Amino acid sequence: MATFPLPPGSTIGILGGGQLGRMLALAAARLGFDTAVLDPEPDSPAGRVAALQVTAGYDDEDGLRRLAERCEAITFEFENVPAAALERLVALGAEVAPGPRALAFTQDRVAEKRFVREVGAETVEFQPVDGLEDLISGLARLGTPALLKTRREGYDGKGQAWVRDRADAAAAWDSIGGRPAVLEARADFVRELSVIAARGRDGAVACYPAGENRHAGGVLRTTLAPAPDAGAVQPAAEAVARRVLEGLEYVGVLGLELFELADGRLLVNEIAPRVHNTGHWTQDGCACDQFEQHVRAVAGWPLGPTRALVPVEMENLLGPEVERWPGIAADPSARLHLYGKGEPRPGRKMGHVNRLRPPA
Ligand code: AMP
Repeated sequence: MATFPLPPGSTIGILGGGQLGRMLALAAARLGFDTAVLDPEPDSPAGRVAALQVTAGYDDEDGLRRLAERCEAITFEFENVPAAALERLVALGAEVAPGPRALAFTQDRVAEKRFVREVGAETVEFQPVDGLEDLISGLARLGTPALLKTRREGYDGKGQAWVRDRADAAAAWDSIGGRPAVLEARADFVRELSVIAARGRDGAVACYPAGENRHAGGVLRTTLAPAPDAGAVQPAAEAVARRVLEGLEYVGVLGLELFELADGRLLVNEIAPRVHNTGHWTQDGCACDQFEQHVRAVAGWPLGPTRALVPVEMENLLGPEVERWPGIAADPSARLHLYGKGEPRPGRKMGHVNRLRPPA
């Protein structure tokens, strides 16, 4: 049984070997921890900077056992890890953070929205959809256009279809594969914000300043943080984050995607139970970035400071955009972060750049 705080030299396990796992592993190493990454693909971006990669599926009993035996605490870098894998790790005696409860709510868009409303925060109007009839009645209730999203396993705008009118319904239902879904009313937002927040093992909560996000084709392009004029919304964003963290009995960092409406109200679009792409600006804008913060929380250390030292604009480098690296490397205001991925397929997240802005 691990005792907290974990001393340096302990090993932290990470389910998932992508770029988020890689940046977690690098942050953990700076605090003197080793990491062990479990990923089905050999030579994953995180595995290449970790002390150990266990190459196995998330449901592989041997792989999970090896991880549980080796690690004092285990976390994950993406939320589509099967809940059963976390439950198995807990049964093997592992200290898993965030726990299975956070995954259960955030893997299902309907459960997530109900949870958000239960803790007293707002979401768009929505209706669960299990068939074409639900979809048609949902359109009548929520109005058009409305957005149909699969309940599970959607990310970066995948598994989503706008429904312009009733005549569109059957095609939209087919386009998401006829899977259990949720129909959402269109949010008339003035901008998209996100807040990265953490809760420690002692229940302490810390929030970073909200960032303003721009998407294209459902994929994040840029985050500007702190968001311009965020002062007015920051207290509300933090209050929502605190309710979510406490309601989930959460340990670690999460990302909360928010829609800001013209009247200043904030609707929760999505809870990501992990470090988040919209929090990458903290690497160069804050003394303690989201990756170190997550490691601190998981290891039972005190949370670090979340104040922005300098405004940052983060830009994702997707696919062949990564070829711009020589120019970015020559720009003294740019901090380049590359993920060590091979093939720059279109749309693939290859890296990001944080541009430091002169303080306002
Ligand atoms: P999601 O996969 O839920 O994060 O959605 C991806 C993007 O689609 C969001 O960042 C928004 O730009 C847009 N979007 C999602 N839900 C809605 C909604 N109910 N109304 C308007 N736009 C939305």
